[in-house]
Amino acid sequence: MDKQITVIRQADTIVAYDAATGGHVYTRGDVAFADGAFLQVGGAYTGPAQEEISGKDRMVLPGLVNVHCHSGDEPIAKGIFEDEGTTALWGNALYEYSSLIDIPAEAVEATLTVMLGDLMASGVTTLVDIAGPNPAWLPTLAKSGARAYVAPGFREARWHVENSHRLDFVWDKARGAEAFERALATVDEAEAHPSGRLRGIVAPAQIETCSPELLQKAAEAARTRGVPITIHAAQTMTEHEELLRRTGMTSPQYLDSLGLLGPDLILGHCIFIDSHSWTRQRSDSDLDLLAKSGTSVAHNPVTFSRSGMILQSVGRYRRRGVNVGLGTDSYPFNMLEEMRQALICSRIAGASVADLDTSGILEVATLGGAKALGRTDIGRIETGARADFSLIDLKQKGMQPNYDPLRNLLHCAAERAVSAVYVDGACVSRSGRPVNLDYDGALAALQDAQDFAIRHLQGNDPQRRPASVLARPSLAWK
Ligand SMILES: [Zn+2]
Repeated sequence: MDKQITVIRQADTIVAYDAATGGHVYTRGDVAFADGAFLQVGGAYTGPAQEEISGKDRMVLPGLVNVHCHSGDEPIAKGIFEDEGTTALWGNALYEYSSLIDIPAEAVEATLTVMLGDLMASGVTTLVDIAGPNPAWLPTLAKSGARAYVAPGFREARWHVENSHRLDFVWDKARGAEAFERALATVDEAEAHPSGRLRGIVAPAQIETCSPELLQKAAEAARTRGVPITIHAAQTMTEHEELLRRTGMTSPQYLDSLGLLGPDLILGHCIFIDSHSWTRQRSDSDLDLLAKSGTSVAHNPVTFSRSGMILQSVGRYRRRGVNVGLGTDSYPFNMLEEMRQALICSRIAGASVADLDTSGILEVATLGGAKALGRTDIGRIETGARADFSLIDLKQKGMQPNYDPLRNLLHCAAERAVSAVYVDGACVSRSGRPVNLDYDGALAALQDAQDFAIRHLQGNDPQRRPASVLARPSLAWK
């Protein structure tokens, strides 16, 4: 039987990979794909084709690679703690507030479904989901049609905030060891998944909640399997100070001392390094450690800038030779908004419009993420690469008038202009809705799950404060 060949005929704009420069360029023409891979990019395709898609008023955009997000309870955390933060812990809400949210087990599939639907609607074709293993995880990811890396988190210590001012660590190494074994089993299951689109990542949850022995065991397990490693590191000032107290080192220095830095390691956030203006160091060597070792950074500007924190700066990290990929972390799970925020935050942190440009942030969100995952076949529209892409509607109102469609997409239209998203040449999202998942049903289930979480806030709070105090409404109810 002949293989099924599809052609996007005469696309108005193609964002194609340019091998000569190693970046993206604009071009026009046909895009043909078969067996999940691009056959021809640009020019006129004259071979046989079983299906034609009109490329009129369409931009073909490479699939976006999201290197850091969390399903689990993040999709129901929306609207609760955006105005909160522990002032004694540098204003971060992570330790005192985010930990209070519980999710009912039966809601896990719904939160994952909503996250996937939202990510794909914004052009994400590959994602790294850092979460707790659960029975719905691999089946739902596989069903979605997305390319997904499962990163089952494990740790030996949990956080406890005493009286809103001191972060303590409650260690349980036996529990950590069990979680580590469970995580490895899930990684192996993903790597062996028949879809070929699921992969695994070894994910010690946070640099300060795992012992050095566990971190080294995790790296060894990843390297034996040939899969990447990811860890939250240099995430908050509280973590930075805790590591200084324990080891006298910053996160990159500590990971270097343990032999973890390398091209297979992705550092989640990596904000508070020695050169950040909030830290007490007056040195500037961490970026060199990351660059020399080939370690990647997963940058997630939306959640951190919501708390008044900013990486200094994406442009500077890149100029120093550090590979940066982009993630969404939590809601709104919108990669195009994340790119806009990344661009703006980088320019604010770098105090210059020249700190990072549109092509730079596109590279971060595509090639940077692919490189972090050790891949040269995704995040690019090139013959032989996987056929992961979006079709952007150039007639959507935010895309007009059209001089430079990428700038329109990032600064105005965002996901509103994404008409369809393809992974391995198959459509996975159309008009903002996932093709293979019941998004609306899942969305309806989120309210019950969030009501459950709100009811449990007080019981989870060591100070037993009511929800109305912990999560003050933005306006008083009268
Ligand atoms: Zn995270």
